[in-house]
Amino acid sequence: MAADPGSPAAGAPAAQWRAQVAVDAPIWGALDYRSAVELAPGSVVRVPLGRQVVCGVVLRCSVDDGADPALKEVGQVCGALPPLGADWMALLRFSASYYQRPLGELMAAALPGWLREHPAQAVARRLRATRQRERCAAYALTALGAQQLPQRIAQRNVALWRLACALGLQRAGAAPDVGDAPRLPVASARGLHPRAAQVLAEWLREGWVREIPASALGSELPHGPVQPPQLREEQALAVQALQAPGFAAHLLFGITGSGKTEVYLHAAQQVLERDPQAQVLLLTPEINLTPQLLQRLAERFPRQRLALLHSGLAEAERFDHWAAAHAGQARIVLGTRLAVLASLPRLALIAVDEEHDPSYKQQEGARYSARDLAVWRARHLGIPVLLGSATPSLESWHAACTGRYRLLRLRQRAGGEMPQVDLANSRDDPLLRAGGPIGRALFDALAQRLQLGDQSLLFLNRRGYAPVLCCPDCGWMSDCPHCDAHLVYHRTDRSLRCHHCGHRQPVARACPQCGSLDLQPVGRGTQRVEEALAALFPQARIARIDADTAARKGQAEASFAQVHAGEVDILVGTQMITKGHDFRRVGLVAALNPDAGLFSHDPRAPERLFAQLVQAAGRAGRAGASALGARMLVQTAYPEHVLYQALQRHDYAGFAARELEERRRAGMPPFRFQALLRAEHAREPRLQDFMEQAAALAAELAADGATTVYPAVPSSLARRAGVHRQQILVESDRRRALHVLLGAWRPALQALAGGVRWAIDVDPTDF
Ligand code: ADP
Ligand code: ZN
Ligand code: ZN
Repeated sequence: MAADPGSPAAGAPAAQWRAQVAVDAPIWGALDYRSAVELAPGSVVRVPLGRQVVCGVVLRCSVDDGADPALKEVGQVCGALPPLGADWMALLRFSASYYQRPLGELMAAALPGWLREHPAQAVARRLRATRQRERCAAYALTALGAQQLPQRIAQRNVALWRLACALGLQRAGAAPDVGDAPRLPVASARGLHPRAAQVLAEWLREGWVREIPASALGSELPHGPVQPPQLREEQALAVQALQAPGFAAHLLFGITGSGKTEVYLHAAQQVLERDPQAQVLLLTPEINLTPQLLQRLAERFPRQRLALLHSGLAEAERFDHWAAAHAGQARIVLGTRLAVLASLPRLALIAVDEEHDPSYKQQEGARYSARDLAVWRARHLGIPVLLGSATPSLESWHAACTGRYRLLRLRQRAGGEMPQVDLANSRDDPLLRAGGPIGRALFDALAQRLQLGDQSLLFLNRRGYAPVLCCPDCGWMSDCPHCDAHLVYHRTDRSLRCHHCGHRQPVARACPQCGSLDLQPVGRGTQRVEEALAALFPQARIARIDADTAARKGQAEASFAQVHAGEVDILVGTQMITKGHDFRRVGLVAALNPDAGLFSHDPRAPERLFAQLVQAAGRAGRAGASALGARMLVQTAYPEHVLYQALQRHDYAGFAARELEERRRAGMPPFRFQALLRAEHAREPRLQDFMEQAAALAAELAADGATTVYPAVPSSLARRAGVHRQQILVESDRRRALHVLLGAWRPALQALAGGVRWAIDVDPTDF
C-alpha cells in the first residue's frame, strides 16, 4: 500500500524548514538552506558554500514550500551558544547598509575568529570547560605567597608583576596584610596576563594563592571594593546627568587628568547597582592602554565579571571574553573599536574614551567608525552614551555646540597643573642649523631637568634613523621599488625599509647610480634622535619606544615600566608615548618637529596635530612634583601659527571654532557629508578606465543638485606594493541624498569592476 503523500512516513524527516543565512563571504544578500528543525533568528550555523564550509547567522526561518529541491542542508548549529539578539542583528544590519558592506561579511567580522573556525561540538566543549573553570571565581594571596612570591618573579617580568600587584603584592616594601589583600577575579586575571589561568594554577599548587569559589565570593570579601575618590562637583554633575532615562549623547569635555575616567567608573557603578543584569561597554582607542584601565576596573569592581575585547588577544581567549559578554555574564566590557560590534544583550551604558582618536575608524574592510556606531547603538537601545575627550572631534564638538549632544565640562585637573607651553623658534637656531635634532632652548631645558632629576619626554612621528638616504653627488634617493615612497634608513640593522609595503634591503655602501661612497641620511627619525641625545648627554639614561622596539614582545611594556619606575631620564618615541600613560615624574615634554601637520593635504591634519600636542602636554606635570613646574616645548619654524597660539593658551574651544568656521566655508564635514570610492589595480590604464566610468555613473546619479562628484585623483600614496591607487570623492548637503546615491552606485560598480579592487569609504577620515 502506498503511503499517503500528505503524512510523513515513520522515520522520514518531519516538516522541513528553510533558513535564510548571512554567510561569511563577500556575497550581497542572504543564502537559503534547508533545515530539519526550526532555527531561531540569530542562531550561529555552519553551512556549505561551494566546496567550503563557512560560518553564518540565521536571519529568518520559515516552512519550506519545497519549491527549490536543490537547496543544501544547514551543516551544523551552534546550539550551545544562545542565538544573537534582535538588537545585535539590527546593529549589524544598519552597519552593513550604512557602510555599504555585505551583511554576512560584517557579521563574520564582528564574531570572534575562533567561533567562525571551529565546529559546533568544539564550541560546546569550550563553553563547558570555561564554565567549569569559572566555578572558582577569584584568587587571593596566602601568607606564604606574600612571603615567597616577590623573590620568585623577575623584576623585568611586567605581566607577572601585574598579576601579583592585582593580588595586593607590592614591588617593593612590606608584605601586605593578606587578610585585607584584594581578591583577583578569574575574569580580570585573564586581562592582566595572557596565560593567567596557567600561572594562577601553578601558584595555587605552590600554595601562594587560594581559590575563592563563586558561591562564597559575596561572604568571603572582608571589605568592599577599593574606595573611589569623592567626586568634585563638576564630576558629580556629569554622573548625575547620565541618570536620566532614555537616549542621550553626552560629550564629556575635560583636559587630561581632569577625572574623566573617574566619571566613567562612577557612571558604570550607578548603572550596575540600579539593574543587577545591566552591562556597560567602555571603548578605548589603544590596546596599549587596556591593561591600565582594566586594572582600575578590577580594583573598583572586584565582584563583577569583566570582559576584554581587542585584537591583541589570542583567538580562543577572545572567544571566552566574547561569549561571557554574549551570555550577559560579563557586566563590564572593555575593548577597542571592534568591541562596539560585540553582542551585549543587557547593554545599558556606553562610554567612549578619547572619542576623537582616529583609530576608532576602521581603515580596511568595513570602514566603520566605532564612535559613530556607539551613538547609533545607544539611540537604538534608548540608553545614554558618553563621549569623553580633552580635544573632541570637530563633529562631536559641533554637535555639542548646536545642542544635539549635551556638553559636560570638567575644568579642573585632579592633581597637578597644566604645563606651560613654550614655542621655540627653530628658524635661526644655531644647533638645529648645524644639523642636530635638538635646538638651543630644548638643550638647555633638558640639561636643567637632568640636574633636577625630572624625566623628559621627546616625541616625533618618524621611526627609523632617517626618512631617506641621499647621494649628494648625483641626487639619487632611496626609493621603494614598489611604492611611491622613500625607503627609511634603519641604522640598528643597517637596512632600508619601506613603511608601506614592508620591502627591506641592506644599505648600499655606494650610490647605485654614480658609485659615490658619500651617501647621506637626510632628515631624522627616533633612532637618530636617540643617538644624538646619547652624544649630548652621555650621563643620561635614555630609552626609545616606537613601532620597531614594540615589535619585540614585551619590550615596549618593559620600557614603559622603566619610565614609571624612574629608571629613565629621557624617553624618545613616536606618538605611542603621548597617549594615556599616567607618568608621575615627567616635567618636560617636547615636540621635535610637528610642523608637517600644519601644511598637509589632509584636511584633518591640523585637528589631529592639535589633539596630539594636547595629549602630549598632558603627560607632563601629572603629579605636580617638579620644582621647575611642568613645561611643554614645541620646536617649530612657525611659532606665530594660530594652532600653536591656541595650544599655548590651552584654548581648544578657540581652535575648534576657527577650524569649524573654515570647514563651513569650504563645505566640509560636519556641514556636508562625504564618501570616498577607493580603487586599486596593478595596471594604471585599467584603473583609469574604471574610475572614469565610475565617476560618470556617479555624476548621473547625482543629478539632484545637492551632491557633488569630484574627478578621480591619485591617492596620497599613489602606488603601494606595485599597485596603483586612486579615489573619487562624493559630497552632499544631505546625508540621505548621499546614501541614496551610494545604494545605487554600489551594484553598478560591482558590475563594472572586472578585477579592479574597490571599496566605498563612508565618512572617510583619511585622505
Ligand atoms: P582623565 O581620564 O581625565 O585623564 P582620570 O580620571 O584618570 O582623568 O583622573 C586623573 C587622576 O586623578 C587619577 O589618578 C584619578 O584617580 C584622580 N582623580 C580623579 N578624580 C578625582 C577626585 N574627584 N578626587 C581625587 N582624585 C581624583
Ligand atoms: Zn650618486
Ligand atoms: Zn614599498
